[in-house]
Amino acid sequence: MDKDLSDLQIQYTKGVGPQRSRLLNRLGIRTVRDALYYLPHRYEDRSNLRKISNLRYNNVETIAGRVVAAEVIRLPKRKMTIFELIVNDGSGFIRGKWFNQPFMQKNFKVGQQVVLCGTVKINSYHGGIEMDNPEYEIISDVASTRFRDDSFIHTNRVVPVYRVTSGLSVRQIRSIMFNILNTCIQDVHDPMPVEILKRNNLPILSESLSQVHFPDAGVDLGLFNRGVSNFHKRLSFDELFLFELGLAIMKRSAALDKGIAFHPESMRLKRLIRMLPFRLTMAQERVFSDILKDMKLPHPMNRLMQGDVGCGKTIVALMAMTVAAENGYQSALMAPTEILAEQHYINIHRMIEDMGLKICLLTGSTKERPLHEIASGEIDIIVGTHALIQEGVTFKNLGLVIIDEQHRFGVMQRALLRKKALNPDVLVMTATPIPRTLSLTLYGDLDYSIIDELPPERRPVETMLFNVHQKDKIYRLIREEVHKGRQVYVVYPLIEESEKVDLRSAIQGKNAFEKVFPEFSVGLIHGRMKPQEREELMTSFKNGVIDILVSTTVIEVGVDVPNATLMLIIHAERFGLSQLHQLRGRVGRGAHKSYCILLAYEPYGDDARKRLDIMIRSNDGFRIAEEDLDIRGPGEFFGTRQSGMPDLKIANIVRDAQLLNTARREAFSIIDTDPDVRSFPLLRKSLETFWKGKIDLFQTG
Ligand code: ADP
Ligand code: MG
Repeated sequence: MDKDLSDLQIQYTKGVGPQRSRLLNRLGIRTVRDALYYLPHRYEDRSNLRKISNLRYNNVETIAGRVVAAEVIRLPKRKMTIFELIVNDGSGFIRGKWFNQPFMQKNFKVGQQVVLCGTVKINSYHGGIEMDNPEYEIISDVASTRFRDDSFIHTNRVVPVYRVTSGLSVRQIRSIMFNILNTCIQDVHDPMPVEILKRNNLPILSESLSQVHFPDAGVDLGLFNRGVSNFHKRLSFDELFLFELGLAIMKRSAALDKGIAFHPESMRLKRLIRMLPFRLTMAQERVFSDILKDMKLPHPMNRLMQGDVGCGKTIVALMAMTVAAENGYQSALMAPTEILAEQHYINIHRMIEDMGLKICLLTGSTKERPLHEIASGEIDIIVGTHALIQEGVTFKNLGLVIIDEQHRFGVMQRALLRKKALNPDVLVMTATPIPRTLSLTLYGDLDYSIIDELPPERRPVETMLFNVHQKDKIYRLIREEVHKGRQVYVVYPLIEESEKVDLRSAIQGKNAFEKVFPEFSVGLIHGRMKPQEREELMTSFKNGVIDILVSTTVIEVGVDVPNATLMLIIHAERFGLSQLHQLRGRVGRGAHKSYCILLAYEPYGDDARKRLDIMIRSNDGFRIAEEDLDIRGPGEFFGTRQSGMPDLKIANIVRDAQLLNTARREAFSIIDTDPDVRSFPLLRKSLETFWKGKIDLFQTG
């Protein structure tokens, strides 16, 4: 897009002025460019409006007619008002009804030409036809003397419908858009290389912009309304392409950076593998050999290790850290929360010390901070939160960074890591099995390895749904497991904002379980305990001293006690799908059959029902991730805001997955031959604008 249009303030376009420009700003429109990219959220076909006499009941229909009455009806007994608008189009009358919105009256005047869109109903009382809360638009203000000459924009055609803000009607926005397109479209320069457009059958930019706002007659409105018309595709492609270009550039520049060439021949590694009470799975071996290959190269590793909960990522990470230590380099293992960092520390510190290496935990609340030992290189492995890197603890020679991801550490932060002139090898671990095409967007600058195999003898966890009236059954199952010598988790959710309240429910829960099971030992673990207390408690659970461990969700991930075979999740209806799956992954880690009991409290909504249902039907993390993505939508699922990636405003990575693949291929092939995008100056400019404020792509180029 031409730079000039992003400099053109919306205030100075025809028909806008200071007041409207303030309203447009509220919609995020500051410049002419913003306006061009403010797309309609739907389209209405007003080229062939149906007559009121021909309306089909229970269908969503659009009609146009003249206002013959606009009145507020008060029903004092029912403490209610109804605003009624009666419209006539020559063939019949229809009522629009708005409940408890008497102020609507001031929007209408008798004689105005209006469009109503809504579900057609029959009034059971008097038999007239009506629409409840229809969408409406005032087409021409015949009541006023001023004649408007742009009414052809608003009717007799496919019209765009925009999201509005109070004080600015859809009709006004439509007129402004029409003006802008008329006056500015010739200034839109297409930054996309022509060959790419040709190859992928995509229309040019100016045509796409004008069509997505004002489609020609006869287009397939279904495609437009879903945002997948060829013109929409072109605009989505632009975003995805710029996004992938950025990733391609980052990936390339990282590959050229100088890094550490580790020597993998490691005695300690052999010892570690010998020490393990199990054999590595083929998938673990394969992924570890990918990692070793990277570590040997004189460039920094940037690899993603993905795998379902319980597939054994931690041990692979540990093997990599052992290699680094043997080469005289330090490693950092970073988790997104303090509790997770702590859990990693608890899980691995013994093994590491058995190998004669030194490890420490470093989070915001660690009292003893062995900063000297870290700076002197005495400590080999530092486990902590992301803050570890951001706060700039001084290392002697940090050679390997392992990021335990849970989607909270994105492209940007990894770039930051490199910018700090640290060029360590980076391994990102994620337990969320994102469908492969999609993980390319989030982790597109990384190489990718997947552990697609669970350790043998793992049996799928049997998942059951219970309600509050079935507590006795639940108690019986718990009793049976403990009598068999197994252990049980009971998890309470984050209900309130305040951790105090959660804690209270967990404490009450613990007391209740102690009453029901006086013969068992019940423990309680939560986020407010001191790290040391928590570690002691986890150790006694691990050692079998505690039979039933009650916890708040703080223990969500990372706990590893193979003898625990039953997980009871209280208020399961309140948990997200991925979270439920993660929790369930805490059991089924040993050779014994395991159970997950979801205790759900009615009533709950459709989404909750879907989540619980999927949990019962499936143990497959990929399936679950896909369904979760479907329920929550990509924005929330990926938490893209948190990771600081550029926003995708038009494209939707789920809907446009195929387009994304194409964009990726095209982007990477450009960067292969022209790493600084010199042959396409307009494209380069767009690219810089797209990534602006996120990362300076061409700093080193
Ligand atoms: P993840 O981090 O992928 O969720 P972990 O690394 O915590 O999984 O491993 C889960 C459990 O499986 C741990 O108890 C670990 O010791 C065990 N484990 C790992 N690899 C194997 C294997 N190849 N065979 C048997 N058990 C394994
Ligand atoms: Mg783990």
